[in-house]
This record gives sequence, structure tokens and C-alpha cells, in this order.
Amino acid sequence: MARRKFIAGNWKMNTTQSGALALAEGLKDAIGGIDAMDLAVIPPSVYIPAVVEAVKGSRIAVGAQNMYFEESGAFTGEISAAMVQDVGCKYVLLGHSERRHVFGETDELINRKVKKALASGLDVIFAVGELLDEREADKTLEVNERQVRLGLADVSAEEMARVTVAYEPVWAIGTGKTASPAQAQEVHAMIRKLLGDLYDAKVAGATRIQYGGSVKPDNAAELLSQPDIDGALVGGASLKVNDFTAIVKAGL
Ligand code: PEP
Repeated sequence: MARRKFIAGNWKMNTTQSGALALAEGLKDAIGGIDAMDLAVIPPSVYIPAVVEAVKGSRIAVGAQNMYFEESGAFTGEISAAMVQDVGCKYVLLGHSERRHVFGETDELINRKVKKALASGLDVIFAVGELLDEREADKTLEVNERQVRLGLADVSAEEMARVTVAYEPVWAIGTGKTASPAQAQEVHAMIRKLLGDLYDAKVAGATRIQYGGSVKPDNAAELLSQPDIDGALVGGASLKVNDFTAIVKAGL
């Protein structure tokens, strides 16, 4: 079964209210009618309602950059899965390297969030990836395997239909250094094989695995043509209508 491509733009802690609106409206005009693949934007949480409103009527879905696993209560600064859904998000991004390495999120914490998001009906973009020193120490496959095993622990085969894995080598995020298509394909194939071991061939064959790390208009087509690369998670280039549009069109 062919996997439907999925390209998402992670805006991180960027934009202003008016900038977010202009970006969302520009993307709606440029790519909002594309139905050959799934598309999502992931704005800062405070701008989610405005962006949801701005892309209404288009095929662009909206995601949140984070959430906490508790239902509600004394968790200052956090947002819940129910809140994320309540304001119109289809997706939540979990396990991003900045959450892991800037904010110290562990595999166990990420797993609690993944399980809560799925139980609440959200779709999850689950990111994994090795640091530069881990790659240089030949630990790429080991690190990604650990993050997948622990992050998806107790996630059922049925729930996996709502999980997209994003492979993002940390050394390629925001650095301008992209993994070569062959380097990316090698890890994607390893993750797919691991999903076959953890679940079954059906889950392995159906799960989408995005590549992320300095995806740009000029490298997108080659990355997206690799057999196990099913889309992209785009950071910096998702902040410009023209660049994100070119990346999306490279995947058509
Ligand atoms: C990201 O934040 O997920 C990312 C891949 O960033 P960039 O495209 O800027 O490297």
C-alpha cells in the first residue's frame, strides 16, 4: 500500500500574531487546495486559534508543538491534549530534539505524552534523532532504536495508524547541514524494520516516516524520492510561503 506523503512546518518560537496570520493566509492561497498529500502547520500555541481560523476551508491541518500528559490542574505553563484539540488541532509534535535537549525531556516523559495524545484522539508526529557525537561514535542506529522503542512503548498497532515518525538528525536541525539522501534513507529503513519487529509488517508498511533537518527547496525533491522517506518536517524554511510551497511541490 502506497503511503500518502505528509509535510509539516514547525514554526518553533517564531512569528508574531500578524506574521503568523499572513503566513497562514499565504500558505492557504499557495497550497491549501493540494489533496495529493497531507499538510500541516505547527504554530506557537498562542497563535493556534488564529491560524486554525485562517486556514479554514483549505486542506492544511494545524498542530501543536507540545502538550503535557496530565488532564488538567496545577501545571503552570503547560497545555493539555484536550486544550490542543479544543482549539482545532489535529496533530501534536512530541519528542522534538529541542524538547529533548533544551528542555531535558526524557524518553519516558515523551512516551507518557504520546500515549495521552493518542488516547485523546490527537494524531502524533513523534520525532527521534541522534546527536553529532552519537553519529560520530557509530551510535546512530542504537540511539534511534532506543528512542523509538521507549517513546512508543505501550502504543498499540491500532494507535500506530495515527503516528507519524519524524527522523531528525540533531546535527542537521537549523544548521544548514542536511543528511544526504542515502544517510537519511539508511535510518528510515532501520526505523521501518524496527516497527516490523515491534509490531508487524502491516504497521511497518503503513507508518509514515518524515525526514527533518535543514530541508530546503533545493534538497527536498531528492530526499522525498527515497523509498522510505514519506514526507518532511520543516523548520526554518516553513516560515516563508515560497520556500514551504516549493518543498511541498517537490513532493508531488
Ligand atoms: C525542525 O525543527 O524540526 C527542523 C527540522 O528544523 P530546520 O528545518 O530548520 O532544520
